[in-house]
Amino acid sequence: MDRRSFLKSIPVGLAGTTFSLSFPSLLAVIGKENHTEWDYRHPEQWGDISEEYRVCKTGKQQSPIDLQSPIESQLSRIEVSYQEIPLRIINNGHTIQVNSGPGNFISVDNQKFELLQFHFHHPSEHTVNGKNYPMEIHFVHRNEQGSLAVLGVPLKQGQEHQTLQSVWDNMPSRKSTERLISDRYISLDKLLPTSFDSYRYFGSLTTPPCSEIVYWIVFREPLEVSLMQIQQFKQIFPLNARPVQPINRRFILTSI
Ligand SMILES: [Zn+2]
Repeated sequence: MDRRSFLKSIPVGLAGTTFSLSFPSLLAVIGKENHTEWDYRHPEQWGDISEEYRVCKTGKQQSPIDLQSPIESQLSRIEVSYQEIPLRIINNGHTIQVNSGPGNFISVDNQKFELLQFHFHHPSEHTVNGKNYPMEIHFVHRNEQGSLAVLGVPLKQGQEHQTLQSVWDNMPSRKSTERLISDRYISLDKLLPTSFDSYRYFGSLTTPPCSEIVYWIVFREPLEVSLMQIQQFKQIFPLNARPVQPINRRFILTSI
């Protein structure tokens, strides 16, 4: 029996339970300043530049991955409770990041995760059947045990995105400290697609130290951004996406 037919043969509810019990635990990694510099020129060398980045090379559950051959499953609902947040923005040298204040949550598999920040990649880090999208947003959340849940939203070329334009209007073109933009608020729920159909799997941070602590939820439906918006981001970050990593013994679930 191969892995797929085995998974299909166990009750869906049980599969869900097993999934949520296997959340990895985490020592505070996010928010910690990393001392060793890294860049996107040689991502295959991240594991060699510092002992604390070793898992980038040795890990067996690395992200991103190509989302192909997902197992169709009755997935639990994702409850999103997002507010309007004041725009606090930073160019950290690797991406444009918007930091969230307290009070924005998602709940999935009976676990509550609080939003810490969201940021952007160009092109998308996850691929679907080998294909990139022009960009991808990552909403990074943490639960009380320190595990992370990241919502990935693919961005495709189309109409200008109004809410993102507020971010784009204030994007620092050089590495900066956090800036609070007065009188600018971001409606977070406008940055999610209407359908919450998703791919889900366990993986890692896609930047050093590549810690394998992330429950990934990547939406299937992309949001639209204009070519101009893509190009504006590209001028600052021509490439800030780690290549896809081997899936190894993992499986990808998707909504039926
Ligand atoms: Zn990311």
